Amino acid sequence: MSTARTRCVALMGLEGRLIEVEASVAGGLPRTVLVGLPDASLYEARDRCRAAASSQELAWPQGLVTINLSPASLPKAGSHYDAAIMAAVLAAAGVVPEQALERVVLLGELSLDGRLRAVRGLLPAVLGAVQAGYRRVVVPRDQVREARLAPGADVTGVGCLREMVAFLRGQEVPQGGLEIVSEAPEPMVGAPDLADVIGQSEACWAAEVAAAGGHHLFLGGPPGVGKSMLASRIPTILPELSVDEALEVAAVRSLAGVGDGEWSVRPPWSNPHHSASMASLLGGGSRVPRPGAISLAHRGVLFLDEASEFQQKVLDSLREPLETGEIFLTRSVHQATYPARFQLVLASNPCPCGYHGVAGGRCACPPQKVRRYQDRLSGPIMDRIDIQQQMLPVGRALINPAHAGGGRERSADVAQRVCAARERQLRRLAGTGWRTNGEVPGAFLRTEWPTPGGMGLLDGPLRRGTLSARGVDKTVRVAWTVADLSGHDKPTEQDMWVALGLRQGLPQREAV
Ligand SMILES: [Zn+2]
Repeated sequence: MSTARTRCVALMGLEGRLIEVEASVAGGLPRTVLVGLPDASLYEARDRCRAAASSQELAWPQGLVTINLSPASLPKAGSHYDAAIMAAVLAAAGVVPEQALERVVLLGELSLDGRLRAVRGLLPAVLGAVQAGYRRVVVPRDQVREARLAPGADVTGVGCLREMVAFLRGQEVPQGGLEIVSEAPEPMVGAPDLADVIGQSEACWAAEVAAAGGHHLFLGGPPGVGKSMLASRIPTILPELSVDEALEVAAVRSLAGVGDGEWSVRPPWSNPHHSASMASLLGGGSRVPRPGAISLAHRGVLFLDEASEFQQKVLDSLREPLETGEIFLTRSVHQATYPARFQLVLASNPCPCGYHGVAGGRCACPPQKVRRYQDRLSGPIMDRIDIQQQMLPVGRALINPAHAGGGRERSADVAQRVCAARERQLRRLAGTGWRTNGEVPGAFLRTEWPTPGGMGLLDGPLRRGTLSARGVDKTVRVAWTVADLSGHDKPTEQDMWVALGLRQGLPQREAV
């Protein structure tokens, strides 16, 4: 009996764990068995490997072939084990030298004609291999760029089984035409910019405060006022991601099967449609759950346009990730936890037709229908929203000098202020575990950093019932961000006024 072993990676959520793939060939009736908790998709691996071998004129060993994946306790699924299984079998059969497999991790799916095909989750798998001390990885040629995003990885791309065999025999495998991506791509000329948003200076300011404090934001207003346009520009004013964060974002994309071998320090943006299923929003799938839209928004912005049109249970399901910053998905065999720490931006029309309360009123929706429409957005989700901003039609905004203003500031300039405000927060919140005002419970702010002058302002609306106790907390939270943006050590009375306006979605002063 002869034995050979090599390695692959199993993915638990974003985390890659090293798997040893061992093959032994013994005499007896020709048979191939797989042991070590493989799921159904891995049994198909056996058949794919056999077919691939014969298509490339490599003989599958006669006799009993046993393939063992260990540790057996780790659940294993997916088609990316093919390359490692094939290599171990070929080494056990003496087709390739066994020592060639020693320090290498192989990843990829074999097609029946012997090509090595791209697999989902390659980047986190390569990251896992490098972390476990295995820098040499063999990957499908189409994914070399993606694999090379992993710092320290020594990547070889192979197009087919024959090339893989050549590599394992120590022959040169041409890697031409695959440039190394070490730097994030330069921002595109003509990329979305806050300056594209015309006549909405007040809403741009609300977006700036939301970005600066990590506050969840609601944008209301009739169709065509630029709610989506503004929301899609929020990532352009958020602080850039660190390299580790950018890699994490690229790893999630890889797992979701939308990785393109690119990475960016720009926070991501994800905007699922209101008809999106629970699985596409939260993540799901039959075998290994895929990350959904909320994980693709990790460290960036999750934008729900026409939020009132989303199913109630879909909106309610956001509660867990909003609370914990991750989502736990469970399927019959596999479980996965994916990161989902995002800034939530909701947009909604005021009524089904969209024109309720708009000057020149074209709305014919019955009052109870308007009410029902707006009520869909109450409860746990709206409780998370610190800033509510109503956007007026541009025509009116342009006529009303109070709302026109400049409003044409470039993202880069706003981003600088946002960055400075974030730095103030990081300094103040050092040691608390919180990083932005948006994360700090309002009660903590009230007791730890009281702002006696400004608090008096809230008494009136509180007594009149136009502001709830929870609303007070939110106002204080936003006031701190306004103070951070203005360079104040603590919120002034004016900061509190501004926060109150942002909280209630009305222009300043009219709020009370
Ligand atoms: Zn209407």
